[in-house]
Amino acid sequence: MRIVILGAGFGGLELTTRLSAEFGEALDITLIDRSDGFVFGFAKLDVMFGRTPAAAVHHPYADIVKPGVRFVRSAVRSIDPEQRRVVTDDGTFDADIMVVALGADLDPAATPGLVEAGHEFYSEAGAFALQPVLDSFPGGHVVIAVTSTPFKCPPAPSETALLMHDFLTRRQIRDRSTISLVMPLPRPIPPSPDTSAVLLEVFAERGIDWHPSRTLTQIVPDRKVAQLDDGAELPFDLLLAVPRHRVPQVVAESGLAEDGWIPVDYTLRTRFPDVFAVGDVTSVGTPKAGVFAEGQATVVAEQIIARVRGQAADQEYDGHGVCYLEFGDGRIGKVDITFPYGGTPAGRLIGPSAELFADKKEFGTDRVARWFGRG
Ligand SMILES: Cc1cc2nc3c(=O)[nH]c(=O)nc-3n(C[C@H](O)[C@H](O)[C@H](O)COP(=O)(O)OP(=O)(O)OC[C@H]3O[C@@H](n4cnc5c(N)ncnc54)[C@H](O)[C@@H]3O)c2cc1C
Repeated sequence: MRIVILGAGFGGLELTTRLSAEFGEALDITLIDRSDGFVFGFAKLDVMFGRTPAAAVHHPYADIVKPGVRFVRSAVRSIDPEQRRVVTDDGTFDADIMVVALGADLDPAATPGLVEAGHEFYSEAGAFALQPVLDSFPGGHVVIAVTSTPFKCPPAPSETALLMHDFLTRRQIRDRSTISLVMPLPRPIPPSPDTSAVLLEVFAERGIDWHPSRTLTQIVPDRKVAQLDDGAELPFDLLLAVPRHRVPQVVAESGLAEDGWIPVDYTLRTRFPDVFAVGDVTSVGTPKAGVFAEGQATVVAEQIIARVRGQAADQEYDGHGVCYLEFGDGRIGKVDITFPYGGTPAGRLIGPSAELFADKKEFGTDRVARWFGRG
């Protein structure tokens, strides 16, 4: 059976690993990605704040040596979900089962003034380029702002504000700086009231200005002001934005997306037979985060395994995930959260504590070991 997996991020890597572990050479798995390696989302913040060098967080796809798996480094140019045919820069691939895990693309140019006068910190290039900028920042008004919904990893802007506080304090320029956080959400983590309460308390303690239910609409470069959707203006010396997210163009052109993203329920099946979609590329109802993409990939793996064995392939995702959240000051928390299908999400906070750093580290090393076959 030919399985073609588009995208080697959280979703694609987890699915590939599970199928290879189960069937080895008995399956013909092709994993396609245009990048040469994987970087965890949270590692972008580590590099940006100078906690680790960029080379240390890059996991080359060339290291993937798994039975039954062929990695193809190439850009996907078209997807025909009816024929289950994919055209790439390096050839055409036909699938018995196709899984789309292409994530969300970022579009900084969609926010006027952002490319000219601000910085986005959500792409690898954007976050890495910020490291020397932060190092030479003399202090001043720092604005961290989200431009639209949905956006990946909703806790990340809050973490960024808290890590910025630590960074400026360490550089002894916190007292001549302000930090403003602009978020489209009414509370930092809406499905987890206890996490939101602790975050709001910590923002207040550290003098971080919290602007809820607002988005950044444009930047006026000459005046160095950020304009928000309610008309308010925030002056800035350093602006860090979460850029607009959109479905990859190749997915938009494939007919798989509706209202911006690929609609799937918790079976992760698209409306096309034997075409699945997982993770950020979907509108499945969980936030756009790696842990959810991974959980969804696990369910697709279970369905494919059942099908190959001639069993009922009726497994469904449970909407559960655990997200790590840095509170700064050496403390980390875990938000244990479930998004029941069509129901009300609920999450609880574990920590924050210094001990949970080891937990988060293990989260990364465990995945690197499984996905890339090394420690
Ligand atoms: C600053 C930051 C911090 C984060 N922290 C966390 C965290 O702590 N925990 C967490 O769970 N999540 C976190 N995230 C979110 C997480 O990174 C994403 O939600 C997750 O990677 C989504 O997984 P995915 O498999 O859907 O897509 P991705 O991991 O984005 O993978 C998609 C892949 O598709 C490839 N691709 C796209 N288009 C093409 C094409 N046309 N041709 C070929 N290849 C293509 C890309 O190169 C990419 O490798 C964070 C994100 C950011 C930005």
